[in-house]
Amino acid sequence: MNLVIKQIIKKIKEYDNIVIARHIGPDPDALASEIALRDSIRLTFPRKKVYAVGNAVSKFKYFGELDRIDDRNLDKPLLIVLDVPNKSRIDGINYDVYDYIIRIDHHPNIEEIANLEMVNENSSSTCELIVELINNTKLKMNKSIASNLFLGIVADSDRFLLGYTTPKTFSLVTKLIENYKLDINKLYYNLYERPINEVKFQSYIALNMIITENNFGYIKLDKKIMDEFKVDSSAASNMVNNFNFIKELYCWAFSSYDEKNDIYKINIRSRGPIINKVATNYNGGGHMYASGARIKDESDVDKLFYELDMATKEYKESLNKD
Ligand code: AMP
Repeated sequence: MNLVIKQIIKKIKEYDNIVIARHIGPDPDALASEIALRDSIRLTFPRKKVYAVGNAVSKFKYFGELDRIDDRNLDKPLLIVLDVPNKSRIDGINYDVYDYIIRIDHHPNIEEIANLEMVNENSSSTCELIVELINNTKLKMNKSIASNLFLGIVADSDRFLLGYTTPKTFSLVTKLIENYKLDINKLYYNLYERPINEVKFQSYIALNMIITENNFGYIKLDKKIMDEFKVDSSAASNMVNNFNFIKELYCWAFSSYDEKNDIYKINIRSRGPIINKVATNYNGGGHMYASGARIKDESDVDKLFYELDMATKEYKESLNKD
């Protein structure tokens, strides 16, 4: 057994109070991984108190319920942080109350946030890492845990389309489907069923996106247009991956105004230029080819788009050199 996995299971055995957390604004990989790991630890060690925390998202209710606790009341708790590389983006915990911290993640490192890390940037998803953890330890799995892990892998790999989808990903997923008799078509409904207004909104984006001569595509989605299509600032996140494999786009970014938080939510994707380094300058981050940012001042949205255009130009020029 890999040394880190051995150390993780040792710590899980050692602690009676365990809190599992993930990033703010969770996506299916973040939610599925925290709920699956919580349920697996509960199933294996029924006497332990294990909580999955953070704000709930109603459209992702099918992954299971989250726990509402005050971690300041827990005795010597262990924290397991999933799918997030920076302290400021962990949702729903008081970082300083924990006795020991483990991080399991596939994001590039940003800062040291844990005593023990199982981090693999080349993994398709955090859920894939949780499957490896469970498969290589005495942690148990059942059908609902397997279903969540399957959906997290499918979502973060965009149905096995994105890089970091490896033979290992397929092999782990095959075993999940076979061993737990997953009805994958039924599960896909949860992830992919969407209202027609979102599809119309996607068409609006395709029709109105500006594409630069460097093959960078961008669009600003303001409150008026989101109201017209009856969508909110989370809608762009649901469809940003659908703009992959468009011949004229090497990189694309959407800005959606989030009225509640008075902030611009940026979704960025790429199939060449490295985008997370650019996003880091604008209160953002993420992966090399899938990244995001949160921006207060609209003029910074323009600056970010300009820098992304320049990164795309550089990438395009590097292609022409070959
Ligand atoms: P999204 O476009 O929201 O699906 O995010 C793509 C990736 O970027 C995910 O890995 C997010 O965790 C990451 N990300 C999004 N927004 C931010 C942010 N403000 N700071 C750091 N990482 C972010």
